[in-house]
Amino acid sequence: MAVINPDHKYKVVIEGHSDEISWYVNYISEKGLISVIRNGGSDHQIAPSKIVNIHTDKGIVKGVFGWPAIHTRLASKEETPKLDNIFIDVGCKTKKEVEKLGVHVGCVITYPDPFHILNKENFVCRALDNRIGGFMIAEVARLIKENKKKLPFGLYVTNSVQEEVGLRGAEMITQTIKPNVAIVTDVTHDTTTPMINQKKQGYCELNKGPVVTYAPAVQQKLRDLILDTAKKNKIPFQRAASSRYTGTDTDAFAYSNGGVPSALISLPLRYMHTTVEMVHRNDVENVIKLIYNTVLNIKSGEDFSYFK
Ligand SMILES: [Zn+2]
Repeated sequence: MAVINPDHKYKVVIEGHSDEISWYVNYISEKGLISVIRNGGSDHQIAPSKIVNIHTDKGIVKGVFGWPAIHTRLASKEETPKLDNIFIDVGCKTKKEVEKLGVHVGCVITYPDPFHILNKENFVCRALDNRIGGFMIAEVARLIKENKKKLPFGLYVTNSVQEEVGLRGAEMITQTIKPNVAIVTDVTHDTTTPMINQKKQGYCELNKGPVVTYAPAVQQKLRDLILDTAKKNKIPFQRAASSRYTGTDTDAFAYSNGGVPSALISLPLRYMHTTVEMVHRNDVENVIKLIYNTVLNIKSGEDFSYFK
């Protein structure tokens, strides 16, 4: 985390998670092929035909998720990629050879896919969920500095680990900071591409603005402050509702330390947990604007009580 005004008693957190989904090496067969397990919500359906980076003590070892050729498959009985049938080939014939490369059970596996821009305004990359969140909260801190804003509280710009495996980093950092307010940013699904049920998933579209969530973990008065800020500053926004859990670090902050007023501002994103996650530049800019202006509207000592 980075802190502005570390000596202030009243503490505001703006947060995004920093971790990336990956795989673990779980088993190496005698033929030198590697079976994996998930580290976070990695998607078995997109694995075949991907190049991978296996992280070892000897550095990155390259591999591929192999898949039987279309010619060799039975059209009448096609297997779909599943956790128990996908496998990585690192170009070895035996387990011994694989081990010689430095690969062992527990090595972490990521994809090497880089950043692209489509049609000038759409950013595509793996792990925009939620590296883009870290970028956006850092931009808020930059704007506060550049515009010489003096805050009447401590601002904790927080990039938590282990969100993808159960909000664990946020659970830890909220106990360390003990904040009075937390504004969390994460990504949420654009639901306008094929095969997504909008009645179930809600409506959300790229380039329509930040998404403000209604959920038990979201404190109403803090959310009102965010929505008022959006309206006053003419920042477009969308609404979403979550039943029980938001599934984001918001839950971890809200239910910590006897309760912390928390809210969630999400960035619309297509193709979550694939290697081609896509967001729109305007939404990125508007999330930054919305968090920045909301932070400027928070008063030191504000407890967001419903009883006044
Ligand atoms: Zn995720």
